Amino acid sequence: MDQTPPPLKPLKEDWDRALVIVAHPDDVEYGAAAAIARWTGQGKTIGYVMVTSGEAGIDGLHPDECRTVREAEEIESARIVGVDTVDFLGFPDGVLMYGLELRAAIARLVRQHRPEIVITGNFRDTFGPGALNQADHIATGRAVLDGVRDAGNRWIFPEQLTDGLEPWGGVRAVWAAGSPEAGHAADCTDTFEVGVASLEAHAAYISGLGWEGWSAREFLEGNMRVAGTQLGTTFAARFEVYSLTWGGGDDD
Ligand SMILES: [Zn+2]
Repeated sequence: MDQTPPPLKPLKEDWDRALVIVAHPDDVEYGAAAAIARWTGQGKTIGYVMVTSGEAGIDGLHPDECRTVREAEEIESARIVGVDTVDFLGFPDGVLMYGLELRAAIARLVRQHRPEIVITGNFRDTFGPGALNQADHIATGRAVLDGVRDAGNRWIFPEQLTDGLEPWGGVRAVWAAGSPEAGHAADCTDTFEVGVASLEAHAAYISGLGWEGWSAREFLEGNMRVAGTQLGTTFAARFEVYSLTWGGGDDD
């Protein structure tokens, strides 16, 4: 039986502004951050948005303290890959609900940042066989998909359109990092090391998980080498493309 996974196509790079919207500090760093470093290195402008501060993420640390630690770790992770702007929306970690409040918050950010590409995490039910996804990731991804379209319609969340804020319908695609249905990837051969450093910046979080002998480098190497083989490079990060243009032809 042929076990060769299907090849991945390179993502388009003819854009200037992207916004990354994920549920938790550290969600970007399990592979996507090396791609972010590639793109900021090309001069693209990329901002990060954390829907929660990951404050329920460390068993031995009260959320009030944990929030501060994890926000600082994410700001450092972002800095390492060339991202200067990190917004924390303050939604509750672990019990995030898909709904209008989240969609509105995302629509407002898209109207403010006016990105061409919006990047989120995998929001399918699993990361692959036997690897269940988490509720906050699923709620965030679905709200991102809806919020970017809400942002372009002036009659949806019209109360946001004050002080010069306008609708923004310029998002061409939403890219979901790490999706098991990924058909595309970004070559991260030159930025792999920066990607490792950005994950290692979550030191307090990783040590709080108590995974004996777990290595950020080995984890990323394992995943990103397989994706690289599928793309025809040494290392790569996978993304599933949800095109927002009619027919999707532009972003295939
Ligand atoms: Zn997460």
